[in-house]
Amino acid sequence: MGKIHELAAILADQIAAGEVVERPASVVKELIENALDAHSTQIDILVEESGLKRIQVTDNGDGIAPEDVELAFKRHSTSKITTKKDLFKIKTLGFRGEALPSIASVADVLLETATATPPSTIIHIKGGQLVSKKIGARAQGTQIVVSDLFFNTPARLKYLKSMQTELAAISDIVNRLALSHTEVAFSFQSNGRLLLETAGNGKLQQTFSAIYGVKVAREMIPISGADLDFEVSGYVSLPALTRASKTYISLLLNGRYIRNYQLSNAVIKGYGSKLMVGRYPFAVINLKLDPLLVDVNVHPTKQQVRISKEDQLAQLLRKTIYTRIAQENLIPNALENV
Ligand code: ADP
Ligand code: MG
Repeated sequence: MGKIHELAAILADQIAAGEVVERPASVVKELIENALDAHSTQIDILVEESGLKRIQVTDNGDGIAPEDVELAFKRHSTSKITTKKDLFKIKTLGFRGEALPSIASVADVLLETATATPPSTIIHIKGGQLVSKKIGARAQGTQIVVSDLFFNTPARLKYLKSMQTELAAISDIVNRLALSHTEVAFSFQSNGRLLLETAGNGKLQQTFSAIYGVKVAREMIPISGADLDFEVSGYVSLPALTRASKTYISLLLNGRYIRNYQLSNAVIKGYGSKLMVGRYPFAVINLKLDPLLVDVNVHPTKQQVRISKEDQLAQLLRKTIYTRIAQENLIPNALENV
């Protein structure tokens, strides 16, 4: 008899969770992205004990129909893509159908959801096992409560950094997602303390101000540029306003927060020699391009993407910032000459 057998679904989900659910912040990211994909206009996030005790995300989006609720927790089940063609022009943040089953395999998950047509469905899954499913009375939208994260994967729990570091990682991802969707009103509470609230009025500078403070927001200048393939827009700080870390540069590609070394560097290069050594600007940059030009399916967390013509995009970004910063510095001289 052969030795090879197919893994049980729960075990396969736990293996996938190893990649998708690295830490509490990954859960927060996946849940907010689901809320955004569901066209929510209000997303409320609440964590306790840096997300280890509880992560709760409530949205007013499309909701899940009763007949789909169990399926949403099955691996590779998604409402977002159907054909191979769809994979090459991803417009949603999710598409792999991995987040909910992965999270539910390593935590206790209670989800209540309703579409525009009542009733709502309440489903309870713990460690990948269905505990209960019943009818509820919630209005349209979804609330998901994730408790006791990593209760059944002690190694993962041990590997986590300090509670403070984990909370900072959650805060960071909430901030970036709020920046990437300024048309959505976000609120974020940790242990009962309100850490962020955005208006959801579509104004990038206001969202930026809610995160980094009015003082910083006032020192930001708008940029915009385009070529045949790409559009870049957003805000960058004046050269005098810097920090000792590159982390204040947010790159948002078609509404997805991404990390990209070459593009972050293009932002910095846009300042020419105007930044002091070891100092970096604040920037929030929206990059718009045809979804055909990006491959999102590179890593399960989708924070790294592959962009065709990335060099050209980096050039455009650098040049747009360079031109804008140069303009800013010319103003005092121009006035003197009047
Ligand atoms: P993916 O986002 O890759 O499709 P997930 O496991 O994150 O996979 O979610 C599975 C499915 O559950 C989604 O495709 C979506 O249809 C549904 N879903 C998850 N969260 C929400 C939500 N907050 N509102 C509406 N539908 C949701
Ligand atoms: Mg998802």
